[in-house]
Amino acid sequence: MKNTAKARYLASGYTSGRREKLIFHSRGCWYASRLKRPARAYISRNDALQDGVRPCLRCKP
Ligand SMILES: [Zn+2]
Repeated sequence: MKNTAKARYLASGYTSGRREKLIFHSRGCWYASRLKRPARAYISRNDALQDGVRPCLRCKP
């Protein structure tokens, strides 16, 4: 994973029905802290949104 150290947002995958979706978290989120291998990492919030990744409802990044 490139840029994980600099990234402020970490994305995790989950399965909804038959589709795999991604959600991104701020670094302080308890959920992000449990991610051993983030699916993706983003430096800016916009990058994640433009990638079609939705923000976590818990940490509201
Ligand atoms: Zn979160």
